[in-house]
Amino acid sequence: MSEIDYDSNKTFAAAVERSKKIEEDIAVNPTKYRVLTGDRPTGRLHIGHYFGSLQNRVRLSKMGVPTMILIADYQVLTDHDAFQEISQNTKQLVIDYLSAGIEPSENVIIYPHSYVPECNQLMLPFLTLVSNAELSRNPTVKEEIQSAGLKNVNAGMYTYPIHQACDILFCKGNVVPVGKDQLPHLELTRTIARRFNEKFCKDRDPVFPMPQALLSKTPSILGLDGSQKMSKSRGNAIFLSATEDETAALIKKAKTDADRNITYDPVNRPEVANILMLISLCTKEAPEAIAQRIGDGGGGMLKKMLTEALNEELRPLRQKRAELEKNPDYIRQVLLDGSERARAIAVKTLSEVREAMNMVI
Ligand code: ATP
Ligand code: MG
Repeated sequence: MSEIDYDSNKTFAAAVERSKKIEEDIAVNPTKYRVLTGDRPTGRLHIGHYFGSLQNRVRLSKMGVPTMILIADYQVLTDHDAFQEISQNTKQLVIDYLSAGIEPSENVIIYPHSYVPECNQLMLPFLTLVSNAELSRNPTVKEEIQSAGLKNVNAGMYTYPIHQACDILFCKGNVVPVGKDQLPHLELTRTIARRFNEKFCKDRDPVFPMPQALLSKTPSILGLDGSQKMSKSRGNAIFLSATEDETAALIKKAKTDADRNITYDPVNRPEVANILMLISLCTKEAPEAIAQRIGDGGGGMLKKMLTEALNEELRPLRQKRAELEKNPDYIRQVLLDGSERARAIAVKTLSEVREAMNMVI
């Protein structure tokens, strides 16, 4: 079997190309697609999620594309000892989704994967389709192990990308709006789908589609430290739920550089470029033009602009958030309804998988 190619430059360029094509086709044929995305309940969502993935999900679901939003609760256990807040974080994620504009329905389904046993059962055959070496070469997993400073890496950490394949394939998701860090995982999912179909579906229609990544225009938002991706667990994020004052205080501490003259130069000035890009995402003005307007205004003016733009962008979302927080029963019901719908889909797929593998008794 040919080995998985994780080369991020190659897969990134290919994913950018494919993303463009999918965008064009989705506009014409929205129901040909099923979107699957998700987040781990390790904390609340931040602006990296918002610009990198959530806005895409809202847009696609509003275009009529069937959309599954999974909360990857099992995945928390791969690199976190703490589990006490999983349930609470799960509900906060739902509040983040709804306040950003996701509207749950027959076609827009939000659920935690621990509530869909038939999806998790795909893990067993899928584990046999991937080699140990392929798992340990995964660059995102390596990066996560390093950044979390894990000493004893559990098997779940190496195998969670296979579990992610279960999440995508159980519902035959074919479009996955993700950030750049997820591309190696998607490559693995595609490989599993292909190997499953090749091995078990010689005499029948293939069970699984080949899912595609859909990258946003900003597939990797840097954290306020300017050195790594913004992440819930790395203390470098602005959360959607932060107050306006908290947002201002966080941005004040953001890293910039010593040059007072502001220019947009992502290669040589990544911290400044990241802030300019964030302003641009809020105001829709090109980052170069914003830089020019700030000129010698320095980091202070740059940060003030971001604070104002971001607080304005997030104001309606934060208002809706406050409303939703008052209604925990509704949030729980969204999850229970979503789990039931996801399960009905998973039961169907698992029975096809069983048939393909000749395990029906
Ligand atoms: P954790 O630190 O717990 O891993 P996270 O912030 O990395 O949390 P995830 O739940 O792992 O968030 O990722 C959810 C989705 O959001 C993925 O599709 C991921 O690609 C996307 N995403 C996360 N961080 C960013 C970012 N900084 N820029 C763009 N997209 C992002
Ligand atoms: Mg992550």
